[in-house]
Amino acid sequence: MLKRLPVTFWATVFVAIVCLSLVAIDGWRSLNARTELLASAERATANLARSMAQHADDTIKAADISLADVVERIEVDGTGPQALARMHALMEEQVRQVEQLQGLFVYDATGRWVVNSRPTMNLGLNNADREYFVYHLNNTDRGAHVGVPVVSRSTGKWVLPVSRRLNHKDGSFAGVALATIDMEYFREFYESLDVGKRGAVGLALNSGVLVLRVPYDGKRIGASLVNTPLYHAFVRSGDAGTGYFPSSQDDELRLNSYRALDRYPLFASAALSREELLEVWWRDTLLHSFGVLVLAGLLALFGRRLIRQIELRLQAEKELMQARDALASLNETLEKLALQDGLTGLANRRQFDVTLGNEFNRAIRGGTSLAFIMIDVDCFKQYNDMYGHAAGDDCLRAVSKTIRMVTPKRPGDLAARYGGEEIGILLPNTDLPGAMAVAERVRRAVADMLFPHAASPHGMVTISAGVAAMTPQRGGDTPAMLMEMADKALYAAKSMGRNRVCSENDCGHDPERHQTDYHI
Ligand code: GH3
Ligand code: MG
Ligand code: MG
Repeated sequence: MLKRLPVTFWATVFVAIVCLSLVAIDGWRSLNARTELLASAERATANLARSMAQHADDTIKAADISLADVVERIEVDGTGPQALARMHALMEEQVRQVEQLQGLFVYDATGRWVVNSRPTMNLGLNNADREYFVYHLNNTDRGAHVGVPVVSRSTGKWVLPVSRRLNHKDGSFAGVALATIDMEYFREFYESLDVGKRGAVGLALNSGVLVLRVPYDGKRIGASLVNTPLYHAFVRSGDAGTGYFPSSQDDELRLNSYRALDRYPLFASAALSREELLEVWWRDTLLHSFGVLVLAGLLALFGRRLIRQIELRLQAEKELMQARDALASLNETLEKLALQDGLTGLANRRQFDVTLGNEFNRAIRGGTSLAFIMIDVDCFKQYNDMYGHAAGDDCLRAVSKTIRMVTPKRPGDLAARYGGEEIGILLPNTDLPGAMAVAERVRRAVADMLFPHAASPHGMVTISAGVAAMTPQRGGDTPAMLMEMADKALYAAKSMGRNRVCSENDCGHDPERHQTDYHI
């Protein structure tokens, strides 16, 4: 079944497979590149989130160390004028030394300002309304508390408050010590990170309050993240994780990595725009696809031309075979025509002469008898004159057909149109009586056709035949001698009244009176 499909089919299949393979391999390569790109982006955001968390942790820790120092001194030294003067100097020094520290403050149990790191102090201000103050008033724990971002009452800038509770000796609430971290310190660091044109980084409290986000927007500080997909993911996973979330800010789909700080209740997040990440990949993929498509197209085009060439070649080969077959059959016909008589369909004179020569030699070699019957239509000139030449042709055809039917069909036997209306029959391996019998059978068959011939004394078409036979000897005998003998016998038959068969020495009987049969 498969073997019968043409070679052009297989060539087409081959070209198609090559083209499809090219496209498939490039598609596979492209998908792999995409997977690898996203995996490496995941690693990059995770690392970035880890660094940011570490940075925030260290920043707050440094402020907290100063704060712990302030708490210890206030509780030990008290708030006398001398102690406060020393404290003021110490605070100023701390703020100078610790870059991220924007200020250090101490409030009493009612929220009034007791001492701070500022050069001048506005004693009229009260911070009892601040979230961190309320927190420490109601919580006895002595650890650091990171509050929601606030605008500093002393500088008017956004700050992150880190505070600790002050206790009296009996453990009752004595006030709050506060360190404020300059938000600009975080902002500068976050803006130095490379997250592409559409990436974002941020820091938030575990309670879901945004501390800072870059790209920076002052209005968003303190906003709630509680209803964002990022916050939900953070709450679910608890510590660190990565995922694709639409931004609550600008709806951009980003690859987000988040990580909680080790020591303080905050978490940092780093995010890269998915679209921006894939932009380069898309460009690369489109370029590749274009190249591959052009290549596949060229391949298909050349393949098509090649297949067309094969088709043309096969077609030419087929036509050549057909032409060869036609030529062979034409040759066969020509050969036949060259050896055949056109009117009667008997062998022509040419074939007769060749066969006569061959059979004569064979008879010499074999020492066998070769017989020849020369037949001539009686009074044919008159037939033509009376019925016309075309009717004469028909008559000749009819006589030939009859002769063909009654002559033997042994190999070597040959009936040929010898002349105008003369027909010769060559009979190898036949002696004179045998040939006479054949001649007589022919004569009678023609007479029995009852073909009307008004000008003939017999009233119908008849033939006369001269028969000769010889066993030719090498050297002396020739085919012409056999012809001549037959010719003479024919002449005798004609002169004895026609419609009869004669041989050299037997012409005696009159067919009208003695119906003699010859048997082979
Ligand atoms: P005979 O009995 O002595 O043979 O008389 P005949 O008229 O047949 O004499 P002959 O054999 O000499 O005549 C030959 C005639 O046969 C001459 C020609 O008109 C005619 N003939 C020869 N070839 C053809 C042929 O192909 N077609 C036709 N229609 N007539 C032919
Ligand atoms: Mg004749
Ligand atoms: Mg004749």
